[in-house]
Amino acid sequence: MSRAQRSGSNNNGEIPLARRFKPVRGALTSKFRYLLLGSIFLTLISLFITISSNSIERFSTASRQRRLNSLISADGLLLGHFPYPEASNSELVEVYPGLRLNRDTYIALRDMRAAAAYDGISLVFLSGFRSIKLQEEIFYKNKSLRNQIAIERAKVSAPPGHSEHSTGYAIDLGDATMRETDFEVTFEETPAFKWLKRNAAKFHFVLSFPKGNSQGVSYEPWHWRFEGTVDALRKFEPANKRLRLERDSKSK
Ligand SMILES: [Zn+2]
Repeated sequence: MSRAQRSGSNNNGEIPLARRFKPVRGALTSKFRYLLLGSIFLTLISLFITISSNSIERFSTASRQRRLNSLISADGLLLGHFPYPEASNSELVEVYPGLRLNRDTYIALRDMRAAAAYDGISLVFLSGFRSIKLQEEIFYKNKSLRNQIAIERAKVSAPPGHSEHSTGYAIDLGDATMRETDFEVTFEETPAFKWLKRNAAKFHFVLSFPKGNSQGVSYEPWHWRFEGTVDALRKFEPANKRLRLERDSKSK
């Protein structure tokens, strides 16, 4: 009997134990190996998907934040309003008790009111200079009574330190024949507003918050600002710069 025969057969002449179990064990091992490799592969794939989706989300959040930051730092907007300094007493004149305006603004406004009167239009001056302290009361006290959160309030009123009225260059106008439209969008239907649309630019008055303005401030047909001096233009440069950029991007 050869060595192979001796080690390969048992007494009953059956397949030797080693040969019987080796292939079966081999099949199990390779199945297990495939399963193991498969599950490692799947784990790696799911890990990859998780990591990449997280980083995509992180990236888009970061880019949104960057865009927001650049907008804020570019023009200093706070809830849609630009920062404005408070006019000093020496820049202001009293038009009547309770209404003060920047001196140059008042001179132009007086001329505009006279021109309007000549055309049969009676302009009323509703609100002029407001100190930052008064703006603070309006924004935090009056508006909070209406149960409005800051974002909602900012649509109709500027946060303190961010009102054009604090510069003394802004004026809210009404129509003497239709006082029920004071501070209302319906002011746009008055003869006074129609006249202003045609003529205000001649006196360097500009509608600050037209319909659909990009600052997100509610349409205010009664609120006009004076841009007839270099100092006024400088104060309103951020707002005008934004308008220019918007116009440029629309024309492209
Ligand atoms: Zn106003």
